[in-house]
Amino acid sequence: MTASTSGIDMAAGVLRAGGLVALPTETVYGLGANAEDPAAVSRIFQVKGRPPSHPLIVHIGDAEPLDDWAEEVPATARLLVERFWPGPLTLVLRRGRRVPLVATGGLETVAVRVPDHPVALALLSAFGGGITAPSANRFGSVSPTTADDVRAELGDAVDFVLDGGPCRVGVESTIIDVTGEVPAVLRPGGVPCEDLEAVLGRPLAVPSTSRIRVPGQHPSHYAPRARVVLAEPEKVVAEAELAQQQGHRVGVLLPAAFADAEVKAHAVVQVPGSMAAYARGLYGFLRELDQKGCDLIVASLPAAEGLGLAIGNRLHRAAGPRNTV
Ligand code: AMP
Ligand code: MG
Repeated sequence: MTASTSGIDMAAGVLRAGGLVALPTETVYGLGANAEDPAAVSRIFQVKGRPPSHPLIVHIGDAEPLDDWAEEVPATARLLVERFWPGPLTLVLRRGRRVPLVATGGLETVAVRVPDHPVALALLSAFGGGITAPSANRFGSVSPTTADDVRAELGDAVDFVLDGGPCRVGVESTIIDVTGEVPAVLRPGGVPCEDLEAVLGRPLAVPSTSRIRVPGQHPSHYAPRARVVLAEPEKVVAEAELAQQQGHRVGVLLPAAFADAEVKAHAVVQVPGSMAAYARGLYGFLRELDQKGCDLIVASLPAAEGLGLAIGNRLHRAAGPRNTV
């Protein structure tokens, strides 16, 4: 934790005055505003270039005031809160009275979590209210995992940047919709689905069965400047070399199993074998390959289990057809 007490007090003052504060969380850096100030929340959408229908996550300092932010909190939600908060788990619940519609993209549901980062928690405590915060990047691009990434992404558009060092988890929270009969995964993330299922004692519903339209589901998201193409792990080297021969400046996310391979490409990142380390590094790797001038990135999806599910989801979206919203 590198932010000072005075920095936290200043950031809380900026939030009270209707400003925007970039804050570290354990997942990625967020672009935060007072959740109860509709004008400040609207500015988040403007700064990010995010469509107003994409709801934001409300961050709170502890689970105790949850009933002010959400209505009808079911027993399954209480169980998950008990076990996983603070942590990278977001719950979608019925919207409570403190949440303005602008924060939920007009939905009658709200996404809430308690982040597990000392700086975020200190800010929430000093501020005293809820902070709506999407990732602190322009809409559709790679999420920031350091304070420098935030400054590079948003520059002066953010009023205050709290530096809490590099993010420990590195991918966004797991989002679970607990408004239906069976809890459903809306987005895989920092808490593995297997851990949630173990606590719930039942399988989670698959995303397509959820009743809630999942915003932020444009085909292209989490995308670096370079185009991303996916290949089977054993074909990554051949695909990369072919594209390089065809005149691309190729960046490679080289799977751990092929660590010893010689690759004739513009830049190579050796992917860590541990999924936790891969998740922590993922967005930094994509930024690094952009910074090295790659125009094409070849990667493969890790096994779809544990944190590999979240990593694969982000890579898949990064490789999606680019939209022009
Ligand atoms: P981010 O996209 O990382 O800024 O995190 C916000 C994401 O949380 C949105 O893109 C949605 O996928 C999800 N979300 C927030 N509120 C809701 C909601 N009420 N219902 C469904 N998903 C939500
Ligand atoms: Mg985001």
